[in-house]
Amino acid sequence: MDIHVKPLEILHVTAYFSKLFMALLPILRFPDPRLHIKATPVETMDASVRQLIHDMTETMYDAPGIGLAATQVNVHRQIIVIDISEEHNDPMVFINAMIIERSGEREGEEGCLSVPGVHEKVIRAERVKVRALDENGQPFELEAEGLLAVCLQHELDHLDGKVFVEYLSQLKQSRIKARLAKQARAATGQT
Ligand SMILES: [Zn+2]
Repeated sequence: MDIHVKPLEILHVTAYFSKLFMALLPILRFPDPRLHIKATPVETMDASVRQLIHDMTETMYDAPGIGLAATQVNVHRQIIVIDISEEHNDPMVFINAMIIERSGEREGEEGCLSVPGVHEKVIRAERVKVRALDENGQPFELEAEGLLAVCLQHELDHLDGKVFVEYLSQLKQSRIKARLAKQARAATGQT
């Protein structure tokens, strides 16, 4: 047996073990009242925030989804992760984000990891300019349009305690609640 370990193998083993320690977080489902709690700003970028960002990113990829707000994993702090890349290899982190400009209007179909199986049209701004902190606590501004702009508005709504189905009529919301309640009962084996 060759006990010589090449650097590449050590790297491989490290990656393997770091994967084991990642945590997939449970996602709250509409109409869970905790989805309506307003998130508060992050004051300091400490290890717990970095771990949360890591876990949220893994949870988003695992779901799979293109965006996740901390509210959805029952952490009420202003943290959003987004990845709209096709390869799921370009995660973006937005801490304490706020929209400072918005323009245009578009109607597009949206879905949400907290409202599984539901896709409905929502009117959003076509373009937004966002100011936020990155995962190192550094401020940045970003102008987004199209899917990224929609995703940012959707996730910022979550931090504000709002789920996208709340833009729909009361009748549609009631139907969605009934459907999700049925799904939840089926999942727990109740009838
Ligand atoms: Zn959502």
